[in-house]
Amino acid sequence: MSGGRRIVVVGGSQAGCATAAALRRFGFDGEITVIGDELHRPYARPPLSKGILGGTEPDDSVFLSTADDLDIVGGVRAVRLDVVRKRVELSDKDCIRYDGLVVATGARARRLSQYADEITLRTLDDAIQLRERFDGAREVAVAGGGFLGFEIASTAASLGKAVTVVDQIAPLAGRLGPLLSDIVLIAAAEAGVKVRVSTGGVELGRSGHGGDRLQSADGAVLAEADVVVTAVGDVPNVEWLRGSGIALNGGVVVDGDCRVSPDIVAAGDVTSAPGVGGRYGRTPHWWNASEQATTAAATLLGREPDTWPGSRVPFFWTEVFGLRIRLAGHLPPFGEPVVIGGSLADRSVLLAWSPPDGGTGIGTAAAVNFPISAPKLIRLAEDPTARGGPR
Ligand SMILES: Cc1cc2nc3c(=O)[nH]c(=O)nc-3n(C[C@H](O)[C@H](O)[C@H](O)COP(=O)(O)OP(=O)(O)OC[C@H]3O[C@@H](n4cnc5c(N)ncnc54)[C@H](O)[C@@H]3O)c2cc1C
Repeated sequence: MSGGRRIVVVGGSQAGCATAAALRRFGFDGEITVIGDELHRPYARPPLSKGILGGTEPDDSVFLSTADDLDIVGGVRAVRLDVVRKRVELSDKDCIRYDGLVVATGARARRLSQYADEITLRTLDDAIQLRERFDGAREVAVAGGGFLGFEIASTAASLGKAVTVVDQIAPLAGRLGPLLSDIVLIAAAEAGVKVRVSTGGVELGRSGHGGDRLQSADGAVLAEADVVVTAVGDVPNVEWLRGSGIALNGGVVVDGDCRVSPDIVAAGDVTSAPGVGGRYGRTPHWWNASEQATTAAATLLGREPDTWPGSRVPFFWTEVFGLRIRLAGHLPPFGEPVVIGGSLADRSVLLAWSPPDGGTGIGTAAAVNFPISAPKLIRLAEDPTARGGPR
């Protein structure tokens, strides 16, 4: 961006707000307008499936602190981008001109059915409504054995619900590998959570008893419950960019500096970025959104982009059944880990795996209820020499 005075950020959540904050940190003193389609002020999503759903954290604890000198516009959706005239058309029929544009429209819950009342968890309102549904419910079924599905299951179990998780493949192993997924599944079983794998698919059906049910493609009932939640992945919010000429390939395609074009950058869950091994893909995790935001801001201002560790070493965390699991590097982990600290038996352990090629590339590091900072965990995943012992 050369000499521009107005930067428009579309998407008022983690990536959008972190980019706006980084723009100010880097000295941009022009106008910054953040446009978001939610009515709430910007908030963080990770607590939604944990403390907010469980009622252990106040709802207003999720709100992000944002600088007063940002123009934050809520309840308005970007509907079209005109890159020639450099303007974003909005759902209220207005449009806004930009000198620099940040695309940070994130993702939404993928749906399993056509039912308008299918229950998913993506927004603060979703979390509050689901918490209300949990009141008085005895049984909860969750479709989707990914991180979000297990977080919902964990919270529901902590509230005394009888919980069943249903997936069409063995849950978590594809991401966590056998060792860590077993740790989670054992903890889930101890919390009374049943896990069912249906190779015949998982569909949402109506039970006829006022509740929903999960069933296989041939209609066999997999779980019936008072509350059925689906957590089957997410879909990037790119529809407003169609026809703009911006490359969309499973997300907004960015380079390693989060650049889309000279005046446009993108950050967060909406992006498809070159990752480990140069393969393009989405990394829909909080740390990635935050790290990309810093890089995107630097790129837009023509600064030497900060290194974006997320592109080299992805990092994320989950909290389930009393386990706080943080992972950095290549997923799933490859081969047998080295125990660097703590012990598996105590469920407080620091583990490191070698790179999949056995070489000196990026491996994997995991901390399960183990105190280590995120940057140190990342260093452990990327630096084979650090695997000899804790630093
Ligand atoms: C329940 C839940 C729990 C999570 N827990 C964890 C966790 O434990 N660890 C972890 O690493 N990650 C976790 N995540 C993922 C993490 O929250 C996301 O990676 C992060 O929110 C991504 O931020 P973002 O700004 O890119 O996208 P989003 O948070 O999706 O924000 C995008 C914003 O843009 C808005 N928007 C979309 N389209 C438009 C449009 N056309 N015009 C205007 N506004 C628009 C959306 O409404 C939204 O407000 C969790 C996510 C969820 C949903």
